[in-house]
Amino acid sequence: MIYVADTSVFITGYIPDGCEEVFTVEKVLEEVKDKFSKLNYISSSVRVYSPDAKYIEETKTEAKSTGDISRISSTDLKLLSLALELKEENSEVKILTDDYSIQNVAQRMSIEYEGIQQPEIDEKFKWIERCEGCKREFEAGLYEKCPVCGSDLTDRLFEQNKISDLKEDVDS
Ligand SMILES: [Zn+2]
Repeated sequence: MIYVADTSVFITGYIPDGCEEVFTVEKVLEEVKDKFSKLNYISSSVRVYSPDAKYIEETKTEAKSTGDISRISSTDLKLLSLALELKEENSEVKILTDDYSIQNVAQRMSIEYEGIQQPEIDEKFKWIERCEGCKREFEAGLYEKCPVCGSDLTDRLFEQNKISDLKEDVDS
């Protein structure tokens, strides 16, 4: 399953199980960087793509018909257009968003969607901070600078399942 991620995905770090690829639009990464200037993404895990104008026009038409056009931002519109383009290319795609208007337009275009901030959240990744100097890793939000060498820390997504895999190996 390919996911098209809105801003909240990058803030929560929530990536669902069965996710093969994450797509987003340039604007989303810009928005996130404005909010968290320190944030540094593993660029290889997220594909940034600009949807074709044809799909943007089609999405606008659909958003007008549902009455959501005045409620969605140009970034939201591009996310929807991107999802539509991927779907037209026969990709199995889902939009990850909690935004009701995005969900509404997605439904109209027969694009699957999924909310993010659900209580049963199954986090595959969590944020950690890695020291740029000694490369030690710390739980996010604990330190301003590396407590060992004093270098700057960079936020990174860390695969939580690597920890549980290790534990299972030890048990068996
Ligand atoms: Zn350090």
